Amino acid sequence: MKRHLTWILLLLTLLVGVLPGAAAAGMEKMTVTFYDEVSQSYGQPTVTDRINLTLDGAPLTPVDVPALVQYPAGSQNGRTLVPVRLISEALEATVTWVPETRQVVILREGSTIVLTLGSASALVDGKQVQLPDGIPAGVVKWEGKESTMVPLRFVSEQLGAQVEWQGDTATAAITSPKEEKPQPPTDPTGPEEGDLGWITGLDFDKTTQTFTVTADHTPQYRILDLGDRLAIDLLGAVYAPAVGRDLILSVESDAIEQIRCSQHGDDLGYGYPHTLRLVLDLVPGITYAQNLSVSAGGNQVRVSVSEVPEQPELPPLEPGKITIAIDPGHGGNQPGAVYPDANGNDVKEKDLTLPMSLMLAEILEDRGYNVVLTRTGDDSVSLADRAKMANAADAELFVSIHCNALDRNDYEGIFTYYYPNSTKGAALAQQVQEEVVAATGGIGRGTPSANFQVLRETTMPAVLVETGFMTHPGELARLCDPTYQQKIALGIANGIDAYLNNRT
Ligand SMILES: [Zn+2]
Repeated sequence: MKRHLTWILLLLTLLVGVLPGAAAAGMEKMTVTFYDEVSQSYGQPTVTDRINLTLDGAPLTPVDVPALVQYPAGSQNGRTLVPVRLISEALEATVTWVPETRQVVILREGSTIVLTLGSASALVDGKQVQLPDGIPAGVVKWEGKESTMVPLRFVSEQLGAQVEWQGDTATAAITSPKEEKPQPPTDPTGPEEGDLGWITGLDFDKTTQTFTVTADHTPQYRILDLGDRLAIDLLGAVYAPAVGRDLILSVESDAIEQIRCSQHGDDLGYGYPHTLRLVLDLVPGITYAQNLSVSAGGNQVRVSVSEVPEQPELPPLEPGKITIAIDPGHGGNQPGAVYPDANGNDVKEKDLTLPMSLMLAEILEDRGYNVVLTRTGDDSVSLADRAKMANAADAELFVSIHCNALDRNDYEGIFTYYYPNSTKGAALAQQVQEEVVAATGGIGRGTPSANFQVLRETTMPAVLVETGFMTHPGELARLCDPTYQQKIALGIANGIDAYLNNRT
């Protein structure tokens, strides 16, 4: 099992270089501007410190923007930002840029990391993870050149390299991840002398509403009732996927919102080299004392939802009182992405999003909903006006439909975006993505948050569906096929229905 851990998991815990404060001597100054994803403009020029990079001892020379220190406003403590493409490619990952969604896709050894500019979370193989210190990837301009930068810690945490800070030369020395060798008996990412062993499974069964922790030993645990949260500390235990990062397990439950999982060393004071901390975030009104019970037996610890409060009976959904805003991406003088099909004829994104949107409108109307479209023909409509139309129609939900593109032709799949920190948007995105993937058989790439204007300026839960990549010949052919378009529309409609029927 250990040997099969992917590079992401295996190398997460390697040490991270720490950047000292601003006063480090001998740093070369440089003047840069940081791009602000919210205002969509560059800020004022900023003088900052330039950082040197080495890879396996050899200088790593930036093509565009060098590594640098960003000092948050009013802080002396900077964080090192490095160009993601330079570092990723040096570590033998492939980096592609998705202009429409302002995303960087990093592919390495079958794993995919998707960074959305301005978003503090990334998707790693479809699962959302927080970026180190919550710092998003961002664009920096220097001497007319632009690069997307990520925190140096990202390099160690997600790309598996080791990073060491050499203060005297202002150098971040990066060491490539080692080839996977047979594991020595004392795996530094696993249980150590004095630990009890591995946690081998964390499972939530939605039918029985039971969360089960399975270990390869008899687990020792402590329970901390934190009111709106319940923490379970598993003493002397290591859970491989949690090493070096915070995991969030989503659960389908009326009592538990999510389960967070973090691997600790001996810092919790239990006297074991490792402790695994599980935090169950409870639905408002739910308490450990009244609604949950914890039991143990054999090699398991179980948390059961013993008493779920009565759900107030929801009035039946009345689609006739609900308006859905549908936004066909681009249009008129904004074609969106343009790529040739197999016959060499240019396909414009605007001509794909419109039929899919019209099909969606028809399905929703058949189901009794009211629908408002931001365009019904080949019209130029500004992003601001699209949001205004939805707001003016007092729409319950907003769905924008787009097609994706990047600078390679072998990446395909479906994303559904929501606005950062919108809980309802996230839930809608989840439902829509699930149903679109189910209806089309396409590859689900996850539901990132993104600061898109149509998501930001609409006042209702809003999602943007990137239905597929026009740069992938197979997916483009499907996107052009009315039968497939109908499946996408059906999937979105089913997602909307599912969301509205689960409303709380
Ligand atoms: Zn688009």
